[in-house]
Amino acid sequence: MPWCDVCDRLVDDQEVVDGHCPTCETELGTGQREPLPWKFRFMIIATVIYLVWRIYQVISWLSR
Ligand SMILES: [Zn+2]
Repeated sequence: MPWCDVCDRLVDDQEVVDGHCPTCETELGTGQREPLPWKFRFMIIATVIYLVWRIYQVISWLSR
């Protein structure tokens, strides 16, 4: 099923009208792209924050 970015939902194959979203008429890609799960996004953000914090710690330790 294609994903519609505008509606932020999966559009059922039977709902797709000529490759377009039936609600907002945005052209939907042919790919079967699944949305990036929120857990995964959160994990990436948490990892980045953690890494920045670690780098900050190392820098402050080195500058002692
Ligand atoms: Zn749509």
